[in-house]
Amino acid sequence: MDEVKESDTSRHFLRQWIEEDVAAGRTGGTVVTRFPPEPNGYIHIGHAKAVCVDFGMARLFGGECHLRLDDTNPTKESDEYAENIKNDIRWLGWQWSGAGDGKEPGFYNASNMFDTMYQIAENLIKAGQAYCCNLGQDEWKEYRGVPEKPGRPSPSRDTTPERNLTIFRDMRAGKYADGEWCLRAKIDMASPNIHFRDPVIYRIRHVSHYHLGDKWCIYPMYDFAHPIEDALEGVTHSMCTLEFEVHRPLYDWVVDRLDEMGMLVVRNGVKIRPQQREFARLNLTYTVMSKRLLLQMVTEGQVAGWDDPRMPTVCGMRRRGFTPGAIREFCDRVGVTKVESESDTALLEWCVREELNKTAFRRMAVLDPVKLVIENFEGTRTVVKPNNPLDETSGSREIPFSRELWIDRADFQENPEKKFFRLGPDREVRLAGACIVKCVGYEKDADGKVSLVRCTWDEGSWGGNAPDGRKVKGTIHWVDCATGVKAEVRLYDRLFTVPNPLQDGSDQFLKYLNPDSLKTVTAYVEPALAAAAPGDRFQFERTGYFCADAKDFRPEAPVFNRTVTLKDSYKPIT
Ligand code: ATP
Ligand code: MG
Repeated sequence: MDEVKESDTSRHFLRQWIEEDVAAGRTGGTVVTRFPPEPNGYIHIGHAKAVCVDFGMARLFGGECHLRLDDTNPTKESDEYAENIKNDIRWLGWQWSGAGDGKEPGFYNASNMFDTMYQIAENLIKAGQAYCCNLGQDEWKEYRGVPEKPGRPSPSRDTTPERNLTIFRDMRAGKYADGEWCLRAKIDMASPNIHFRDPVIYRIRHVSHYHLGDKWCIYPMYDFAHPIEDALEGVTHSMCTLEFEVHRPLYDWVVDRLDEMGMLVVRNGVKIRPQQREFARLNLTYTVMSKRLLLQMVTEGQVAGWDDPRMPTVCGMRRRGFTPGAIREFCDRVGVTKVESESDTALLEWCVREELNKTAFRRMAVLDPVKLVIENFEGTRTVVKPNNPLDETSGSREIPFSRELWIDRADFQENPEKKFFRLGPDREVRLAGACIVKCVGYEKDADGKVSLVRCTWDEGSWGGNAPDGRKVKGTIHWVDCATGVKAEVRLYDRLFTVPNPLQDGSDQFLKYLNPDSLKTVTAYVEPALAAAAPGDRFQFERTGYFCADAKDFRPEAPVFNRTVTLKDSYKPIT
């Protein structure tokens, strides 16, 4: 697990809100937050943002953050998703804590509370605060009306509690089909807040649950389940995204009912009333984030899976070579606000680059190889280069050097342009860490492409400087032909060609897929790279940041993914 360092010192509104509650003694001594993903997909950078807020606030106040799988909607959930969510959160550097509802501290399944939720629903019915309704979907909407005008009461609104209890129990017993009846909270059909107009709190769904099988054919709605989950776990601060702001009165209504039922957790003599606050969701340019759309790309084969390095999923970013620290730094820099906005993918990449520049070992790799022969060079020598010149403790590596080398095609020009200081006919260049060579000729293949560059070396220049002190401007990287290793290098670019792929609606986003988001090349890399471990990250000198692919890398057939290019004009506003 990556260690989370103290970072976000900004006093955003959520932090102030929690500070006030702590000061007023409303937390019973422990701030408790939760991250409540639905196990119906892999988590993405937007979730990572919520993870950083939920776990980050708990950490800042010395409290606990629960991981709660919000598995109240049985249709699309699975253990595979659940396991990956856990894995991804740990990788991001966070660990849930608290009591938990089973063997694992801090871990909860909302579905473990179904019995209690059912009981609460019966309590509401008995108290005349909920009733069964058999309006069809369309009728129900029509009765509910529009915000400007009061809605109409359902014909079943005043059914007796006894009759409601019978119907509800029959719903549970499976006597009705999906949609035939539902349970509604009896609140206020005239409320300007549409979510307050007798919202549905239980519905019939004859669907197996991934953990509970066919135990239930009625399932609680999110607006009912979520405050109950928070309350029963003793959560003090429930943070979610802005779209839930209009649901907050309903959240509070449910908490009030639980209070009346004496079901709120008491901690150190303080009754814990969970509270909800909302912050803007994270949006990112050049990608899409809804799980539904990500799933569509996976099932249609537009990408190679949830962990395709082009995906904005946490597992995709991991495979791409992004670091947990850079993702957290990005989330911090984006900040917590109440205004929806779009964050720049370039900022995320900048964070990745900043970190890798400090930590990644340097290696040489030639992605578009052309052979260079040093005609007057005999034998072999060894070049020693630091693993990372910015980190004195990083040590160095030995690189074999001999007569035949690979260099990058772009480092040789037959007719050098202005300001091109690398190789060309009769020109000198420095081979990084080795010596100065001069081009004395070149050959081309049948297609007119340069196939061989002939050079001689200045025998006094070993180490890199000319004996007579003359200046040689250009330095290029190289890989020794005799010992270099052939590797597959996957050059990833943005998945979409426009900042907002949803600009024409979510059924049109695929037309903006970037056809060049993946290019695969055969490269030669210095021998040390064959000894990389899957997932290891490197700077390929002068080229970019790369990582050994976690799935496909083999020492005898190395595969590297481009994480980010070396440079970008992007500069964050500080
Ligand atoms: P999606 O819309 O991508 O399918 P979701 O909101 O349905 O996501 P959940 O599993 O229900 O996914 O979300 C878990 C938590 O993550 C919620 O608290 C939700 O508010 C938060 N979250 C989801 N997407 C984002 C985002 N883009 N930015 C910030 N928080 C997010
Ligand atoms: Mg959801």
